[in-house]
This record gives sequence, structure tokens and C-alpha cells, in this order.
Amino acid sequence: MATEKLYYQDPNLRSFTTQLRKIDQDEKGRLYAVLEKTAFYPTGGGQPHDTGTMNGIPVYDVEEVEGEIRHYLQEPLGLQDEYVGVIDWERRFDHMQQHAGQHILSAAFENQFGYPTVSFHLGKDTCTIDLHIPSLSDEEAEQAEKLANQMILENRPIETKWVTKEELTQYMLRKDLSVSENIRLVIIPDFDYNGCGGTHPESTGKVSSIKILHWEKQKKNMVRLYFVCGNRVLQQLHHKHQMIQSMTSILNAPQEQMKEATQRLVQQTKDLEKTVSELKTQLLEYEAQRFIEKAKQDNESTIKGIFFNRPITELQQLAKSMTLNRTDILVYLVNEVENKLQFVCARGQDLNVNMNQIAKCVLPLINGKGGGNDAFAQGGGVRTISGEELMEELNKQVTCFNKI
Ligand SMILES: [Zn+2]
Repeated sequence: MATEKLYYQDPNLRSFTTQLRKIDQDEKGRLYAVLEKTAFYPTGGGQPHDTGTMNGIPVYDVEEVEGEIRHYLQEPLGLQDEYVGVIDWERRFDHMQQHAGQHILSAAFENQFGYPTVSFHLGKDTCTIDLHIPSLSDEEAEQAEKLANQMILENRPIETKWVTKEELTQYMLRKDLSVSENIRLVIIPDFDYNGCGGTHPESTGKVSSIKILHWEKQKKNMVRLYFVCGNRVLQQLHHKHQMIQSMTSILNAPQEQMKEATQRLVQQTKDLEKTVSELKTQLLEYEAQRFIEKAKQDNESTIKGIFFNRPITELQQLAKSMTLNRTDILVYLVNEVENKLQFVCARGQDLNVNMNQIAKCVLPLINGKGGGNDAFAQGGGVRTISGEELMEELNKQVTCFNKI
């Protein structure tokens, strides 16, 4: 005989006394008890399982497997004549609020707009329903939320009824049923008729309130809507209020001006980034100029520079700036970054040396990759040789190609 389901007889039952039917282990070696009767709700119908204790031993999971309700125990149960089960009521009541709230919200979307709910998920912090529609407007969400909260305010009864398949024809069900026997209807008179095996409070008032948080488009014709009910509405308010309070002190602006203060901050950051970028360009120009002046003093037609941990984009900019300033020079810049070596080689337009060819010749020395065109090339690889050695190799190639 199946375990007597006390949670259907009285969803408000928080503790109960029962006899043990058996103790066993599942295929994963998890210890479980099967009882004569139970108020522990097993995972099902979108509602997570209850937790609690049996004779003081924690019950951490409850599942219905092949008609038997398994209470997974943290430790073995001693043999007794009677066992006392205690439900974690805070967790169960929260599930009841979310679950009944989902019925009400889904019915509100269905009754007002004909939007069907195709699935429900009761998460740890928030709940979701998937609505089979291409998109949802702010006004529609607002209206559905308003109607749902009106139903709560009216404190309508939430009734449950076991019916046969034949009796079903008397009811306008919101959703097709997934079972054909042991049919349990959950009814909010003149509002919602729905097949459901979960636990619900006896009236809508106990749901307390429903708040839609946000929604997003899923795959085609599907909108996932996030919401909370009951105590979770207060928790959300509490967390959001704390967040706003901390933001007001960070932004030094009251709640009403927070949006403007944030926009100002974002704009300031953008302006600063632009300024920094302009200053960096000026600095690089200055640096390029110094290299050129030094080469002039030394009567050198080749500029060589070895750097450490410079962004490669800066070296590119430097080389370009130098060859634009002086069209008769060669530039080789080498950069050491941890265990990597990078280089840039460039020439002024008056010279006739193929920089891409030079790059290709030195790249195997550092197991590198790279390339470019006649006037400008770059590459990067492993630091198998030092920066100075790479510079020498580059120079050799240039001398060699120059002779040709
Ligand atoms: Zn339900």
C-alpha cells in the first residue's frame, strides 16, 4: 500500500507521528526511510521537496520513486515503535506561497490576454514561468501583476478536489493534464482551474503579494518571466533597499537623483578615457621625436629600441610616427613581455627594404608568428633568445637585404 500523504489531507501539518515501513539504500548508497504516512512533500510538479527531521535526524531530500516516498536521512534511524517527523515549515510555507502565487499569476496572464504558461520553475531566490508568446509589454505585465494582487486581496479560497477523467468535462482547465488517473484539481473559484499535485495555502490571502521582477525573450515565441511571492517580496525589497542605500553614499546622491548621478559618472569616465588616450598619443609623439633627435645627433640612419612590458600597440604607433617624421630611416623596436618576445620593424618611404621579408626571416628564431607589408611588419614569439640578440638578428637581416 502506498504511503498515506498527509500533506494532501492538511497542507498546514508541520509535524506528525508514524510507523516505519522500511529502511533501505538507493543505487548511490544513500540511506532512506519509507513511512506508513508522511507530511514530507517529495519533489514534483515544479515544487521542491521538503526538509526537516525524523526523530531528530535530518531529512535532506524527499523523492517519490515508483510509488514509494523516500525520506533520505543523514544518519541511520534507531528502531522505535513510533517516529516523529518535523517539517522545516519556513521552507515549506515559502514553497506554498510561490506555488500558489504562480497559479494566480499564470491565470492572470491567461484570463486577461490568453497568454499560456508552459513551464514553471521554483528557484532558491526567484521563480520563473515561461509564457508561450513572442514578446511581452510593460503594460501587459503591469496589468497581470495588478490582477494577481487583486486576487490575493480578495482572499479567495484555494480548493483541492480529486476527480475522475469523466468529471473533468465540468471544468475549464487552464492547461492540459499530464496524468489520466489520480487527478487533483486546484481551484480558485471563478478564476483558475488547474491540475496540480503541489501544496498550496487554503486561501489566496496567504500568498501575501506577487511582484514581477523582469522578463527576457527565450527561444522563438517564448518569454521567461521572473517573479517572487510572499516573504520573498519583502526579501527582495530589503536587498534592493540595502543596495540603493549603499549606492547613495558611493554616488553621494539621494535615491531620486541616482540615475542622473550614474549617467554623469559614466559620461565623466568616457571623457577621461578620451583625454587619457589623447595624452598617450602626445606622449608617444614626444617619445618618437626624442628617438629621432638622438639618431640625428649620432648620425644614425637606424633607430633601435628595446622595451619591457610595453603594449604592442604603443610600439606600432611609435614606429609609424618615426617613419612618418623621417622618411629615410629604419626602425626596429623589440619588446620583452615575461617569457615572450615581440618586435616591430618599419622603414621610411625613401628606402627600398622589404620589412615583411625581414620579419619572416627572424620569426623562426623565436618560434613566432607575424608579418606585414613592404614598409611595416611585426611579430611575436617565445623568448628563446634575449631582446638584444633579437635586435642583432634583425639588424643582420637588414644589412643582408640592403646589400641585395
Ligand atoms: Zn499547484
